[in-house]
Amino acid sequence: MTILLDELVAQALDRRAPTRDAAHALLTDEFEVLDVVAAAARVRRHFFGNRVKLNTIINMKSGLCPEDCTYCSQRLGSTSDILKYSWIKPDEAAEAADRAARAGAKRICLVASGRGPGQRDLGRVSETIEAIRAKQPDVEICACLGLLQEGQAEQLRDSGVHAYSHNLNTNEARYADICSTHTFDDRANTVRKATSAGLSPCSGAIFGMGESDADVVDMAFELRELDPDSVPVNFLIPMEGTPLGTDWHLTPQRCLRILSLFRFFFPDVELRLAGGREIHLRSQQPLALHVVNSIFLGDYLTSEGASGNDDRQLIADAGFTIEGTDEQTLPDARHDLVAIRRRGVGTDQPSNA
Ligand code: SF4
Repeated sequence: MTILLDELVAQALDRRAPTRDAAHALLTDEFEVLDVVAAAARVRRHFFGNRVKLNTIINMKSGLCPEDCTYCSQRLGSTSDILKYSWIKPDEAAEAADRAARAGAKRICLVASGRGPGQRDLGRVSETIEAIRAKQPDVEICACLGLLQEGQAEQLRDSGVHAYSHNLNTNEARYADICSTHTFDDRANTVRKATSAGLSPCSGAIFGMGESDADVVDMAFELRELDPDSVPVNFLIPMEGTPLGTDWHLTPQRCLRILSLFRFFFPDVELRLAGGREIHLRSQQPLALHVVNSIFLGDYLTSEGASGNDDRQLIADAGFTIEGTDEQTLPDARHDLVAIRRRGVGTDQPSNA
């Protein structure tokens, strides 16, 4: 068994994905959970050392969404007792961003509920970015505004957005079970539009929605096809008033196995432990830091997260440091893909023509 884990580590260091069988085994008792975490930790350390990147969410517009994603407290028909408001002012967002950046956040995620942005919304986001930049010129800005129409990713890029986040959430085969108002392809196409516009693509998943091991593995393969730069892994926060409000399926061990599996699929990608870590990993969060290299700081969209002080203590106690804005998150460009010519003219080897 150790040999198989060693092989998985070697493949990951070479940026190769696990086979379906090996990925499946990571989720089962075939391996001890600590052995799986230790193997994933070797990959994490190789590409990211002991740095943890902090990101913060600013919910620019909360609730009242016309879409019906079953996991979401902002969905159509949700009776969750959440904050509901329309677009906050640029200054309010800038103040929250400034506070988070001073607390260590390197990336600000500007999120708005809804199917996708209209033209006025893009204007609001642009003004907000200007206000944030006036206080924090170096912070990374990610937009998460739903499905994008043609040309909108380019507009966001020109406004100074660095990354676009749009999660696939669950695998294609199950997508219709969690949402009827848009499709898996709609989501994947938005990620592709962001990538083609030159935005850094961020796309991840939510687990704890009744998925099987095979679904988890499918999700990893499907996300890998989109070649994201960052992958948030959420664990369902079952909110009362939503269809999944009573779904408590996860254990800390299951979460650690899923995170480790994702590290093997995304060895040199920013793997972000996202919503639900406090309630599902609980006392095991320090172990997860050995696998992921990024977490959210502060509150989530509609639920409260851990205090910044507690998280900074958690990071320090586990032997990690917070990544600064002057540090690069992703490893250098993939030099291993560039092969120096050693054949053809000027050599004694034939060319490959
Ligand atoms: S996940 Fe987004 S699109 Fe779906 S209901 Fe929630 S806010 Fe709306």
